[in-house]
Amino acid sequence: TKTHLDHTSEIAITPTISVGGNELFIVGGPCSIESMAQMETIAQALRQAPVQALRGGIYKPRTSPYAFQGIGDVGLDILAAIQQRHGLPIITEVMAIHQIDKLAAHADVLQVGSRNMQNFDLLKALGSVDKPILLKRGLAATVNEFVMAAEYIASHGNTNIILCERGIRSFDSYTRNVLDLGAVVALKQLTHLPVLVDPSHATGKRELVAPLARAAIAAGADGLMIECHPQPEKSISDARQTIDLDAMQSLINSLKPLAQAV
Ligand code: PEP
Ligand code: MN
Repeated sequence: TKTHLDHTSEIAITPTISVGGNELFIVGGPCSIESMAQMETIAQALRQAPVQALRGGIYKPRTSPYAFQGIGDVGLDILAAIQQRHGLPIITEVMAIHQIDKLAAHADVLQVGSRNMQNFDLLKALGSVDKPILLKRGLAATVNEFVMAAEYIASHGNTNIILCERGIRSFDSYTRNVLDLGAVVALKQLTHLPVLVDPSHATGKRELVAPLARAAIAAGADGLMIECHPQPEKSISDARQTIDLDAMQSLINSLKPLAQAV
């Protein structure tokens, strides 16, 4: 049972899986989709963990144009095969308007990354898509800017929006970003939208992920997005913040008593 006073809209992802209801919505998977074998191993482990959705990027917004930019369109077949074999919803990032149709054909939720939170043309275009949108907070966006970005999608017709706090820039480089749990509570009070927390990008360090994931659930988050990989150190992107599949299982096991207490 939830103790927050506001109403949260429950968003159906599949006929049996939703976000914003009484069950936590846990999303797990690699930063980047690397191969069919990688995703098969991850899906097999996570379906029984269980998670409620798999994540993985095929188009990656990298700081350097010389860094791996994602596996690209060949990843669409991997997404489709994994979704069919394992029956788990797939969440993947859309970076540009021209990617929307092909991603919507293969994914259950389209993610807007932090760097695109105020890409207003993209947000408007997602307003006419018949898929839930996972909107990540811009790395230097205020709470109001975040809410208004969601409003761009909603005002163009798509009200199935899931917010995700993923840390904001600060002066301290010890952690990659600073997880703003105050914003999570504020967003739950200001909006009716489900709010997820991504402690992987918020911290940039795998040893900080599980404790902050639990803190997020204690603060009232509706779920989590966690980067995990069979061999984290071999991840093509974001290796340092990625946890292994056993750690993911332990984290999920530790959430049950917490979620009941909130
Ligand atoms: C991601 O989730 O793959 C990602 C790139 O995160 P963010 O947009 O929050 O940096
Ligand atoms: Mn990542």
